[in-house]
Amino acid sequence: MQSEFPQTNNNGVHVAPVVRFAPSPNGYLHLGHAYSALRNYEFARRHGGRFLLRIEDIDMGRARPEFEQAIYEDLAWLGIEWETPVLRQSEYFGAYAIALEKLNALGLLYSCTCTRNEILEEVKLREEWPRDPDGAPIYPGTCRDASASSLLRQITSDKPVAQRLNMTQAIGALQGPVGWIEYGEQEDGRSVSAQPSIWGDVVVGRKDVPGSYHIAVVVDDAEQGVTDVIRGMDLFEATSLHRLLQELLNLPAPVYHHHRLITDEHERKLSKSAGSPALRDLRAQGVTVADIRAQLELS
Ligand code: GLU
Repeated sequence: MQSEFPQTNNNGVHVAPVVRFAPSPNGYLHLGHAYSALRNYEFARRHGGRFLLRIEDIDMGRARPEFEQAIYEDLAWLGIEWETPVLRQSEYFGAYAIALEKLNALGLLYSCTCTRNEILEEVKLREEWPRDPDGAPIYPGTCRDASASSLLRQITSDKPVAQRLNMTQAIGALQGPVGWIEYGEQEDGRSVSAQPSIWGDVVVGRKDVPGSYHIAVVVDDAEQGVTDVIRGMDLFEATSLHRLLQELLNLPAPVYHHHRLITDEHERKLSKSAGSPALRDLRAQGVTVADIRAQLELS
């Protein structure tokens, strides 16, 4: 990865980079996580910067303490050291609620009671319905169109309520075009223009907690002073949304390095559901950190 270091802040002062590895404790770490964690860690070391570990446990239905504990063990085994205390997102719902309040004050949110199935049913009736980069159907706007009465529905309905961002209005609220500096793999920084509209009216406040992955990540990156977000290409498209939220919430923009994804022999992205071996299983089989680094082509 080509380095943009040394960076300067607005006053022309050189700043050391701050990076973070932000796993969700929903399963055991695999080689893809090891790659991302090591890329972040080595970037920080090379440039005299800081490496932070963040536990993204906002999905409390899936997060489990034993997975969090395993993250600490696996990273230590890889030779990674991180600062403490570690930020755990489940302890910061208040900060995410404040961010939602700001978006709400800008008139950009509406309440939505639709379930995933209701959305699927709704779009089934229409031909060729667009999907977001994660493959989910773009929200058809059912509750947005009924938003004048949605407060009433929120009060009268006992269905759980999510908060959605009105994407058209959110883009309209921007001062100008939004983009980011992308370092990717082995390239000098290039400007990418953000395309947040490809996400449609995303959920920014989940039904179970005040916040969502997208809100939490931009609030935390700003709060922790992250300068360089180093993460997999699978989150490249999400950056459009993150940049939009940063602009709306007046948060600083980090630079982004989306790295290659580690795939299996069938060129599939590693994942728990694809049966990818966990680092701890490899370790139990006698695989060494040096073997892992060689496999990941890390020198
Ligand atoms: N928690 C996310 C994941 O495990 C990563 C978020 C990020 O790096 O921005 O995929």
